[in-house]
This record gives sequence, structure tokens and C-alpha cells, in this order.
Amino acid sequence: MKILVLNAGSSSQKTCLYDITDATLPDHPPKPIWQGMIDWTHQAGVAEIAVETAQKTVEQEIPFDDRSSVLKSLLAMSWTGETQVINSPGEIDIVGHRVVHGGRKYHNSTRITPEVKETIAQLSELAPVHNPANLQGIEVVEAILGEVPQVAVFDTAFHAQMPDAAAIYPGTYEWVERGLRRYGFHGTSHQYCAEQAAELLGRDLSELKIITCHLGNGASLAAIRNGLSIDTTMGFTPLDGLMMGSRSGAVDPSILIHLIRHDGYDADKLDHLLNKASGLLGISGVSNDLRQVQTASDQGNPRAQLALEIYIHRLRSGIGSMLASLGGWDALVFTAGVGENAAQIRAAACEAFEFLGLELDLEKNVNRPRNQIISTPDSRVHVLVIHTQEDWAIVRDCWKLLKNE
Ligand code: ADP
Repeated sequence: MKILVLNAGSSSQKTCLYDITDATLPDHPPKPIWQGMIDWTHQAGVAEIAVETAQKTVEQEIPFDDRSSVLKSLLAMSWTGETQVINSPGEIDIVGHRVVHGGRKYHNSTRITPEVKETIAQLSELAPVHNPANLQGIEVVEAILGEVPQVAVFDTAFHAQMPDAAAIYPGTYEWVERGLRRYGFHGTSHQYCAEQAAELLGRDLSELKIITCHLGNGASLAAIRNGLSIDTTMGFTPLDGLMMGSRSGAVDPSILIHLIRHDGYDADKLDHLLNKASGLLGISGVSNDLRQVQTASDQGNPRAQLALEIYIHRLRSGIGSMLASLGGWDALVFTAGVGENAAQIRAAACEAFEFLGLELDLEKNVNRPRNQIISTPDSRVHVLVIHTQEDWAIVRDCWKLLKNE
């Protein structure tokens, strides 16, 4: 079965094609037979395309004024030219899309129909950068592949049944009626990592209390009980919660009022400040990339040191808050760029919970663990590092949907 996955972000479009030849889904994700990537923002008006197959890597720059035509050209590189891996687009059996916002309506991955498209369009108000890009991807595939089944895998779906007490902000009741509530994001990753953790522990997910830490450029935590997300740190948008690469995470809203009153800030300026100029970058003045902040900190840069201290403080507080929602704790899972690679951050986060009997195996922690338990055998809480594979999670959902039809 050939499964195409599209993952559209604000600055890039990633896509890959898997060929599943076995009758059942393999336990370990195979490498995609074809991967394509478009970088929209590196050069103004020029799309930078990179395509990789087992045999060939091709890079191109295409001037553009319409993103859809660039995406069409990219996809065509899987059935034509030097990076051809299939004979015609008709060989693609199903297409899975990562869709950022599914609101409260979608609890699971969903076959795309005109009604689903309509909802994704309506929810663009809540995800103005991502949902239109996701919709564009769906329409490009429709134009090229016609009636091929398409599946939306929502970032919000895993959190959609979160209890109201965790999801509703204590503003006015009108907010509740207007859907101004916590939706949570990174759901595909949180769910996938929790499932993988249960498998590694040889336990049933439904009997575990897990905190998953997705720490990438964007970062969020989820409290998972009986396989369901019951609390998470991201909120109405992916700006809430933890300190991130260039996003502030949660701040006192009065600071925004103060900036509006005293410094003439408007919505666009605040948006930029909080999403693009804050977090590790804003405090350190060095970078949004944790590695660079760590290097500067090691060289004695006091702002970089402060940035790391805040990052760790916020992470620990967030874990504490998820813990309170869970009312018990079996496993702590680290994933994504920082979670999978930054041993120092993992160690610092865990240190705060030693009083609960959490014991990290310090050697395992620094030995580039991947899909591995890194707590000691005596630790009361299991600590794991799981390599997140959102694309593979989308493939699995497409597979299941097609098999169950
Ligand atoms: P995105 O949210 O864009 O998918 P990633 O999951 O790729 O992000 O994570 C990016 C972050 O991971 C960056 O801040 C980067 O510094 C961090 N990172 C990647 N590798 C390492 C490493 N070896 N040590 C520390 N941080 C790392």
C-alpha cells in the first residue's frame, strides 16, 4: 500500500511517501521511499525544494506567487524525473494530512469529506497560518489524484475529550460559548509516544498514568490517563504553557495590557513579540536553538544561563501541574528535538522529582538513548526517551482507516 503524508507548517511543507508491502503494519517504521520538502520563507518569493530517495537527492529553487503550483510540481517529482519512485499518481492508495486544528469536533483521524473541509476552513480563524495551508494541501491532492481517499489527522484530536475543568479558561461564560478554550496541540506526538512507552514497559496503556514532554521548537506536556489526554499545557493556541524556542509560553495577561497602554503595541506587534521574539531567543538574545543557548551558557553568557534556568523552572512546574491532574504517576516520557537529545534538560527536570522516588540512570541518560527506559530499575516512576514519529503515526491511522472500510 502506498501512503502519502503531507505535513504543512507556516514556513515549510514536508511530504513523504511510504510503501507498506507487508500484509500487516510493521512494528518499526520503514524509511519512506520518497521525501519532499519545500522551504517557503528562506528567500522571499522563492520556494526552495529538496527531494530525497534512496538513490538520489535533488535541490531546486522555484520562483513562485502561488504555493499550490509549487506543491503540485513537488509531488510530481515522485512519478517523474530523477526522483521518480512510482509510475503514476494513481499508484497512491491514500493520503494523510497533518491538520493543526480540528476544534472540539474531531476526536479521531477522519476521512476527508466536503463537510470536513468546511470545518477545517471555519477553524482557520483559530489557526490562521496552519489550517489554510492544510486545506491547500488537500485541494492540491484532489486536483492531482481525484477521488483518492484522504484522511485528516488533527493535532487537537487527542485532547478533544479533555475534562471541561482542564479545558475552560476562567474568563467569562461567553468565552465558553464562543469556543475560547484550551484545545491543546502536538496530540499525534503525545499519543504516539504514550503508546510506544506502554509497549516498551510491557504494560497496557489503559492502566498507566503518563506525562509526555514534547520539547521541540514548540513545546507542550500532556497528562495521559487510561490512554486519554486529561490535561495539557498548550491552550487556545500553541502559545500557552511552557517556555519555547521563540514563544513565551504562559505570561500574566496584564503584561500585554501594560504594553498596549504604555508602549503603543497592537495585535500584530504583540503576536510577533510573543510568538517570534520571546522564549529562549528573547531571554538569551542568542538563539531559539537550545544547543546555541547551551553553548553560550557554558561560555559564561549570563542571559543564556538565565534562559536555561527559566526553561527548566517552567518545565518542572508544568510537570508538577500535570502530575496533580493525574493523581499518580507511572511514567515520564521525553520526546522531540530537545526531549530526545538534551540530556542536561532531562536530568534537571527529573531532579526535582527525586523526592517522589524518581531515579534517573545518569549513564543511560547521557548515552544518546532512543526508544529506551532511562530510569533505574528501582525508580518509582519510569523515565523514557521516545523518538516521535508523527508521519508514521499518520501512516498508521491511514492504514487502519482503509483496512476498516
Ligand atoms: P520542531 O518543533 O521545529 O519540530 P524539533 O523537534 O526538531 O523542532 O526540535 C528543535 C529543537 O531541538 C531545537 O531547539 C534544537 O536546539 C533542539 N535540539 C536538537 N538537537 C539537539 C541536541 N543534540 N541537544 C540539544 N538540543 C537539541
